[in-house]
Formats: sequence, C-alpha cells, structure tokens
Amino acid sequence: MLIGILGGGQLARMTALAGLPLALRFRFLDPAPESPSRDCGELIVGRYDDAAALDRFARGLDLVTCEFENVPVAALESLAPRVPVRPGPRAFATGQDRANEKALFTSLSIPVPMFAIVRTLDELRAAAERVGTPAIMKTCRLGYDGKGQARLDHADDASLVAAWRAVREQPCVLERRIAFSREASMVCVRGLDGSTAFYPLVENVHTKGILKRSIAPSDWPEHLERSAREHAGAIARALDYVGVLAVEFFVEGEGAGARLIANEIAPRVHNSGHWTIEGAETSQFENHLRAIGGLPLGSTAPVGHSAMVNLIGGLPERAAAMSIPGAHLHHYAKEPRPGRKVGHLTVRRDTREELLHALPRVEALADSVNVLS
Ligand code: ATP
Ligand code: MG
Repeated sequence: MLIGILGGGQLARMTALAGLPLALRFRFLDPAPESPSRDCGELIVGRYDDAAALDRFARGLDLVTCEFENVPVAALESLAPRVPVRPGPRAFATGQDRANEKALFTSLSIPVPMFAIVRTLDELRAAAERVGTPAIMKTCRLGYDGKGQARLDHADDASLVAAWRAVREQPCVLERRIAFSREASMVCVRGLDGSTAFYPLVENVHTKGILKRSIAPSDWPEHLERSAREHAGAIARALDYVGVLAVEFFVEGEGAGARLIANEIAPRVHNSGHWTIEGAETSQFENHLRAIGGLPLGSTAPVGHSAMVNLIGGLPERAAAMSIPGAHLHHYAKEPRPGRKVGHLTVRRDTREELLHALPRVEALADSVNVLS
C-alpha cells in the first residue's frame, strides 16, 4: 500500500516510521526540499496549490492523509475524487478556522471560553466590552505554536488598536483568558467503521504558546477523563472523522469541581501524543495508519507512565540524551532555529512517582539547549 502524506515534517516522518514495519510505503508532498520525511519515502517538492505537483503526488497512491491542518481545502477536494482522503476535507475546513471550530464546539454544547468573532477594529471595540479582559486575540486562520496571537490586558482604545495591529488586522477570535489550573489534551482515533479508541487524557505544559511537556497518564479525577472522551467522541462523530484526532482543553478548578473548557482541535496526529511511541500499546502514528487503512484499531492502553519533553530551537548531543537511563531521543533531522520544534525526549517508568523522580534530569537537558525566541 502506497500512502501519500501532505506535509513532510516530523509528524509525517514519525507516521512513516510507524508504517515501515507494516510494509506500508510513503510519498510526501512538501514545498521544502530539506523536509524531515525525506529519508522515509519519496519526497515530492512542490506547493500544495500547484496542480502539476498534486498530479505527480497523486499518481498510484492508495490513500492520502495530512500531517498539518493548514493544507488548502481545495487541494484535498481536488484529490478526493481520485483517491480516498482520510480524514476528509470537512475536518480541515473546521480545524483551520477558529470561527468554524468554535461553532462546532458550541453546536455540541462543549464549553468554550467566552468569545466573539471580530473582522474590523470597530467590531473589536464592541466585542471587548462583551468578552472583557484579560483576553487573547487569535487570527482565525494560520496560527500555530502561539503565532498569530496577541494578549489584551486592558480594553482602552490604545490597547485595542495595538492588539489589532499585532494580529495584522485580519479576522480574529477574541476570547477571554482562562485562569486554568492545568492544560490537557485528548488524543483519540476513529476507524473507518466508526469505532473509536481514546488514549488517557494527557497533561500539557506550554511556554510562550509552545508545548513544552506532556505527561500521560496523569492524576486526573475520573470525571475529567470521561468528559474528555465524551467531547472528543462527539467531535469525531460530528465530523465523520477517520484517523487520529486531538482536542486541546483548559482545565478550570481542581479535584471534584474541575471542568474542561475546549480550546482547539487538531485533525491529525498531535505533539501531545508523541509519548505513545514508547508509552502506549499502539502509538498514535500506527493507530492513524490503521484507521485510515480500514484496519482494526490497536489498543490505546498506556504501558507505565510517560513524559515527553520537546526540544525547541536546539538539540542536545546524542550521547548526553542517551546517558539518561530510559530516555529516548527523537531527532527530527531539522535545522535548529529559535522557537522551532526539532526533536523530543520521552522517558517512561512503571509508576508516576518514579516518573516524577526521573523527569527533572530530562527537563534540565532540554532546558540547557532550548531556544524559544
Ligand atoms: P498549537 O497549534 O501549537 O497548539 P496555537 O497557536 O494554535 O497552538 P492555542 O492552542 O490556541 O494556539 O494557544 C496556545 C497556548 O496559549 C495554549 O495552550 C495556552 O497555554 C495559551 N492560551 C491560548 N488561549 C488561551 C486562553 N483563552 N486562556 C488562557 N491561555 C490561553
Ligand atoms: Mg494549541
């Protein structure tokens, strides 16, 4: 089976690495010749809106999937009559526009931060009254790793004008800043037959809008795990989704009073699911391939307790990573640049206590090389 992946970054690379033992073969389309997936299959260098490049990409493929959510929907629609595209274009139309995402959450009665869609400075002035401060402005389209966002601490006119300029005067979601106790994500997988499996709810820490660390499983109260599964399952059903889907949440409050507020979805394998390579019975990458290939899903059960720490803007010496017992280095073969995810480390232990004991050394190594901006 020859699988085409739109995007040749580290998510495509790790997906291919999961598929090679199953004798799946891969072709990637990416505008960058130095893409991390170049060693894992055939890389076609071209733009996603270039019809000739899409033709070359599509020839002989059995399936198409995507590694990032900002693929032009028109490209997916042009491929769909020729080869199954999973997940389908609709998930992308939703995931790449924060206004559509909010509408989906709202239609499913999934709690979201107080928000308003703003298209002009005047709409921002009116919306700021309703939403209140502190708030955060996010461009409706093309944001990632905290890019395309501006914080709004006060609603005076000078602050509003500055925020509007900071997001380059384009349609935005203005949303209330949540004083969250923690952040979480639910990574799930839905098969071609509609069966769905859920990984444990992941606990995430972000710095400057970039994911820094994930722990799974975490010590969540059972009602949060349940509610995350219900929300993610409802979203996957509503989108008639096939493949791995991630939903990011803010957790408000603690213990029995804790509740989830949805932030965003990612219609693809997700950074907060990288721990599953070593830490789950079946990795998110293999499960994505199983789902889109119409194969039986694999168990999402955790194997012990895992933490994943991102390497951002810099990489440690291989030997330094390998000298930490039980640490696994994933090097994306990317040129380090400030704020760019270039690798990750995963460490797994039998118990949470042992994991929390082992984690500081892994985090210290990442902190010694990370360059955020
Ligand atoms: P990515 O695609 O990498 O997940 P992104 O650029 O799409 O990131 P968000 O996920 O919306 O951006 O935000 C990144 C981080 O910024 C969140 O994980 C959270 O830490 C913080 N953040 C975003 N929105 C809010 C909010 N309403 N209240 C509090 N913190 C927020
Ligand atoms: Mg996010």
